[in-house]
Amino acid sequence: MNLHRQAFTDLSVTQPEPPSPLSVHTALGTRPCNGIGCASQIGIACAYVDRRGRPCPTAWCPNHRTVFEDTVYCALHGATLTGLHWDFGDSPHPDVDNRVPALVAWISRVAEDDIVATLQSICRARNEVLVRDPVRRVFLGPQRDRSWERAWKTCSAFGVATRVVIAVEEANPNLVLAKVNSKIVATLAAPAGDLAGQPPAEVVELLFRELVMPMSFALDSLQQGMPLEARAMGGGAPRWSAAETTTAAITGRYLAGTYAS
Ligand SMILES: [Zn+2]
Ligand SMILES: [Zn+2]
Repeated sequence: MNLHRQAFTDLSVTQPEPPSPLSVHTALGTRPCNGIGCASQIGIACAYVDRRGRPCPTAWCPNHRTVFEDTVYCALHGATLTGLHWDFGDSPHPDVDNRVPALVAWISRVAEDDIVATLQSICRARNEVLVRDPVRRVFLGPQRDRSWERAWKTCSAFGVATRVVIAVEEANPNLVLAKVNSKIVATLAAPAGDLAGQPPAEVVELLFRELVMPMSFALDSLQQGMPLEARAMGGGAPRWSAAETTTAAITGRYLAGTYAS
C-alpha cells in the first residue's frame, strides 16, 4: 500500500473552499432600512455626501440598497453617481435632495442610443470624432443659473462642430430641454418614474417622440445647411423665434403657454 500517494490524492480532491467574504451587496449593518414597508434592521447608511458636507440620512438593507463602485447608496444617489462619473476630487456632489442630476442621467440613458446613432452618421460624413460627456453642472447667463446637462459632441481638428445636450435647470426642475448647438429644439415636462430603474415603455416612446425626433430633425437641418428653426420646430410643436436665446425666457413662455407661432 502506498500511504504517501493516497494522502496526496485526498488532499488534492478534498481541499476545502475558503468561505466567501460578505460582499457590499450582502453586508449587514445596524440601521433600520428606509425601503417602503421594509422592517429590516440591518441597513447600511447611504454613503452619499453632498458638496456642503451633508450626508444622505437614509439606510438600506441588502434587498433595497443600490451599489455603485463597491459602495452602498440609496436609489437616488446611486443613480446620481452613475450618471455623473465623477472625477473624484474636483467635482462637487449635488445637494443631497437634488433630483435633477439623476433625472438628466435617466433621460439620457433612454435617448443616448438614438442620439449616438445620428451623430455617428454625421461623424462618418464629415470625418469627425464623437465625444460623450457625463452629466455636468453648468452655469447659464449673467445670473449664473444652475443647469445639469449631458452632452454629445462631434469634434474636428478645429474644435466642437456639433453639440447635442439634454438639460434640466434647477430653477425649472420639471422641464427637460433638448438643445442642438445651444438652441433649444424641444422641451418636455419631466416624466414621472423611478429614476434608478428602467423607464416604462410609454416613457421611452414619449422621449423618442418629443425629444429625440426633434433633435434628429435639427441635426438633419444642420447637415443640409438649413437654419435650425426651419424644421426643428415643425409639426405643431411649440415654436420660438431665432432671436430668443435665453433659456429662462423660453421656458417662461413655454410654461405660460404663450410660445410664438
Ligand atoms: Zn429593506
Ligand atoms: Zn442617499
